[in-house]
Amino acid sequence: MNTEKNLGFATRQIHAGKIANAAGALCAPIYQTSTFAFETVEQGGARFAGQEEGYIYSRLGNPSMAQVELKLAALENGEAALATASGMGAISSALWSSVEAGDEILASDTLYGCTFALLNHGMTKFGVDVKFIDMVDVENLKKCLSPKTKVVYFETPCNPTLKVLDIQALANAAHAYNPEIRVIVDNTFASPYLQRPLELGADVVVHSATKYINGHGDVIAGFVISTKEFIDKCRMFGLKDMTGAVMSPFNAFLIARGLKTLDIRMERHCANAHKIAEFLHDHPAVAKVYYPGLEDFEGYEVAKKQMKDFGGMMSIELKADRAATAAALNKLQLCTIAVSLGDAETLVEHPASMTHSTYTADELKMAGISEGLVRISVGLEDPEDVIADFKSVLDTLV
Ligand code: PLP
Repeated sequence: MNTEKNLGFATRQIHAGKIANAAGALCAPIYQTSTFAFETVEQGGARFAGQEEGYIYSRLGNPSMAQVELKLAALENGEAALATASGMGAISSALWSSVEAGDEILASDTLYGCTFALLNHGMTKFGVDVKFIDMVDVENLKKCLSPKTKVVYFETPCNPTLKVLDIQALANAAHAYNPEIRVIVDNTFASPYLQRPLELGADVVVHSATKYINGHGDVIAGFVISTKEFIDKCRMFGLKDMTGAVMSPFNAFLIARGLKTLDIRMERHCANAHKIAEFLHDHPAVAKVYYPGLEDFEGYEVAKKQMKDFGGMMSIELKADRAATAAALNKLQLCTIAVSLGDAETLVEHPASMTHSTYTADELKMAGISEGLVRISVGLEDPEDVIADFKSVLDTLV
């Protein structure tokens, strides 16, 4: 790990976490096993007691998952990482390892729909208070911090409005109030290639690895990255006992393969998104483009400060009403109407009725998610072809 810190990002995404194997296979074999043989009863007991290193049972650890855990720790610049079955598995394992009844979580008011549901309907059922606040202004966070606050939780850029939050300012404010507060950042939209929250003062990073980390639309997976102490707690309590959300060895193999091209894919996603955002910005059928890379977008300056580039995600509002918008989007030929993001294919979805349908109408309003908002995950196609597809349907609305 220490020597890997001196290597560049591309080298780490390919080489970090390599595990030795008897045949010398370049790509690590898939350890498709639920359990591991002990030489003796005493050895099994020693492993359970934590007195001897070694694998026990794949819910507690497996070499295939260990490989990608080491990669994610190296890429996010964390001490350790935990692989999970999904992004929600990562988020819930981290949160259940951080709070108990009577504690309080301060969360951003704009979050992926199921994260919002976990906080709003899940954690609150078990006696944890959750407050949702607009964290663009750090003063709003400062006003809400209390002795009960154990976690500050946010995404940046946020799903689906691309609201950009200042990681360093929020982490500093939380830690100045109480250094024990755990600042958890969902880095799914940016990926570690574009943004590394731990370097900016956050305590924990969570990922839906379903998205850019894997990058090929064929896996559901997640990661938690943090200190070794917190990851041990997440592994041996949050994941082992609370969620059981264990990544499969085959998915770990696919993620190790996908990660080899993360930087190249992200550069292409960003370059394509810039071109498409500029086209949409100038199209007369479009009322607003939410993309951090546009200079007139609210979050541009903070994004420029904390991200290497502006990412492949954007949302748009059309001037047409919801029915006309849907009718137009239904005519897209190349772009696919689908949730998820970070894939090679350009995906288009309607947050209010899909990814964010866990919000009530009032909650959508609070989060700034309008009825007409359309989210676009820009893929890796030739951008001219994606633009032509959008042009053909948007032209019908003017
Ligand atoms: N976080 C963000 C920002 C997401 O967009 C998603 C899913 O879309 C998740 C977390 C949940 O990830 P998963 O679907 O892998 O459970």
